[in-house]
Amino acid sequence: MFNRQAVTCRISKHLSAKAILAGALITIVTSGLLLTVQFTRAIAINANFLERDTQNIAESYQAELAKALITNDSTEVEPIIRSIIAAPFILSVGLYHNDDKALFVETKKDPYSRGEFKGIAKHLKQPIRSLTLLIHSTDDTSRQLGYLNINFDIRFHIERVASTIVQNMLFLVAQGIVISLLLIVFYYRYLCKPIVEIAKQIKQCDIPNAQGGQIGGKYQPRNDELGALVNELNTFIQLVDQAVVAKETALNAADHSYKNLSTLLESLPHFISVKDLSGRLLLANKSYVKALQLDPDNYIGVSENDFLSFVPESTRKTLKYADEEVLAQEKTVVLPEVEWKFSDGKFMALEMRKIVISYRGHKAILTVALDITERKEHQARVQYLAYHDSLTNLPNRHLFLDRLDQALLRAHRSGLYGALIFFDLDNFKNHNDTRGHLFGDEILINIAKRLKDTIRNQDTIARLGGDEFVICLTELSDDELTAKNLGSELVERILTCLRQPLTIENTSVQISASLGVAYFNNDSLSASELLQHADLAMYKAKEAGRNRVFVFENAMAETVARLRQLKIDSKEALADKQFYLVFQPQFDSETMEITGAEALLRWKHPTRGIVSPDEFIPLLEESGLMPLVGQWVIQNAVKTASIWHDHKLVKKGFKISINVSPQQFRQVSFAHEVQRIVNQYSLEAELINLEITESMIIDDITHTANAMNELRNIGINFSIDDFGTGYSNLNYLKLLPLDIIKIDQSFVRDILKDQSSIAIVQTILSMAKQLNLTTIAEGVETQHQLEALKKMGCHVYQGYLYSPPIKAEQFQQLLEN
Ligand SMILES: [Mg+2]
Repeated sequence: MFNRQAVTCRISKHLSAKAILAGALITIVTSGLLLTVQFTRAIAINANFLERDTQNIAESYQAELAKALITNDSTEVEPIIRSIIAAPFILSVGLYHNDDKALFVETKKDPYSRGEFKGIAKHLKQPIRSLTLLIHSTDDTSRQLGYLNINFDIRFHIERVASTIVQNMLFLVAQGIVISLLLIVFYYRYLCKPIVEIAKQIKQCDIPNAQGGQIGGKYQPRNDELGALVNELNTFIQLVDQAVVAKETALNAADHSYKNLSTLLESLPHFISVKDLSGRLLLANKSYVKALQLDPDNYIGVSENDFLSFVPESTRKTLKYADEEVLAQEKTVVLPEVEWKFSDGKFMALEMRKIVISYRGHKAILTVALDITERKEHQARVQYLAYHDSLTNLPNRHLFLDRLDQALLRAHRSGLYGALIFFDLDNFKNHNDTRGHLFGDEILINIAKRLKDTIRNQDTIARLGGDEFVICLTELSDDELTAKNLGSELVERILTCLRQPLTIENTSVQISASLGVAYFNNDSLSASELLQHADLAMYKAKEAGRNRVFVFENAMAETVARLRQLKIDSKEALADKQFYLVFQPQFDSETMEITGAEALLRWKHPTRGIVSPDEFIPLLEESGLMPLVGQWVIQNAVKTASIWHDHKLVKKGFKISINVSPQQFRQVSFAHEVQRIVNQYSLEAELINLEITESMIIDDITHTANAMNELRNIGINFSIDDFGTGYSNLNYLKLLPLDIIKIDQSFVRDILKDQSSIAIVQTILSMAKQLNLTTIAEGVETQHQLEALKKMGCHVYQGYLYSPPIKAEQFQQLLEN
């Protein structure tokens, strides 16, 4: 990691060696310079000395020369001139007159008479200098007589001077060398050696492992540059140590983060992969490797073209474009849905995101894909459910209306008739309430399945909700009669299908339905209008006693509309006190006494007047109001009976009979509610007789028995109403705390003419006798009927023969009389 060079090096590289070289160079250069300067100065000084000596010599002969010039006697002058030229450095002397500048006397000698000049003297420029001395009259110094011209050689003495200089210089050079050597020793001892030692110590420091420690040793406490260097180095090493520790910590943290990230990537359900720009796989998480069945140990470098070969060509193109886009834009590219179809036929929908990243220093494409197959299926399911009924998988109202619209449009264009069938299952609510919703659901599922198999391909069946179904028959015929005949055939087929018993939970269930049919062709009916027509026809079928088919006719609309309105109005009737009770006496023809009264509910509609119970009771049941109204009936019947009782108008054994509806009876709180009302009016419970129907017993024998026994324990009586019209199962009668059987008025009505009615009444009477039950005949209207009944053994009756249902006040008068 660290390239640490050896501390030792070549001698030439040693600082001490460099110091020697530098010292020598400096000594030579400075000595040379000094020598030159000294030479120059010595020449100048020597020249000055010689010039001054020449001057002194010439001046010493001035007076004699002035005299000689005046006298113009050359003999006097010559000895003087010879004396002057005797000086070894003077080469020529000439004396001149001032008047005509004519030479008076001149003497010369050979400049080289002393021998040849050598060394520096040889190279000297202008070695011969001139000196002119003006000669003045001794009497009158202002009078110039002539002049003396002397040439002298400055090279005189120059060798001696140069020799001295050279000797001095040699001494200086020697001194320089000695000083340099001393400096080298000093350098080595006090600088180079400590630096090398410190360098060695630095080398031995364990810097890579942050174990630098302290260096310097004996140099550390020194208060000089080395001490400062060591201190700074120690500080530096310490900082490096800290940096190394920080780096290690950061690396550890990064390593930890990397492991966490790796674990995260591996545990993610997303398919994560990194590929290079040529499509070769660089990285993939477990999910990706598993999904593509790659070799976990050898997937790196595998080409995308190989491992994605199963993907459809179109998808591969999409992926390629996405790669190009992500590379061009360098921002995330999202592919909302990519389909993978595996060779085994398995399908996978993916949501992909691609982004360019730097992977190990190279540009790469990161792909993150999420399996959205389930979400997609869920969406498809949601979409399916938006148009289908989840229970039966049939089209729902929404889809049906759409198809009906299309059917109407086609019928309008083609003129071909179609038919809309609207039906619901008769008494379906009973199945639901008594055997549970799951049972009811099974019925609906089975019915739907059967009908789907029954109808033609071009027809549509849908479930609108509850037990309501619709079927649209199309393309029947362009002839009305033919169309209706075909329609009837198909309806008959549907009815037959519906009427076949179903087996659910090992129980055979008989189903019937009421059907309404509305035909259409090119009339301008809307889908909702047509539905309304079929619905009205169905309503009519129900009204007519169920289990039948009615075809819509315009006249129907009014009746059905009336019932509709009544149903709506019935919701307000209780609050508006439109309901009231009437009481029909029950009369014992033997004792000639009133033994009881049946409380009957009546409705006086504010605009329509009295509404028949046959009309409004089913409406109350359908709208779910029956329990509430039934409670009102019990409350008011008990209240009335308590008044009669308080007035002591009723004899022992008198009973007020109150009809209980199946919906009311099925309520969990029913028994409790009856007890509350009885307690409220402090009426003896024995005076109350609740009339229940056979169907209520059959529906849920356990609940019925429990509720009846609970009320029987406080003294309430029970009668079974309209006996003989339902199941008439003797076993049930044995199980329940019954007191009275009421023979249905249909048998009484036919008792004089119909043998089977007679037989039924006789059977009922003998059965009642065996079970020790009282019988009351309903609907006795003539004396003949009464006589016939009495002959058979039934003497208690109610009916118009004795009295129609009357209001409470009238009944009270009857009792008083
Ligand atoms: Mg009744």
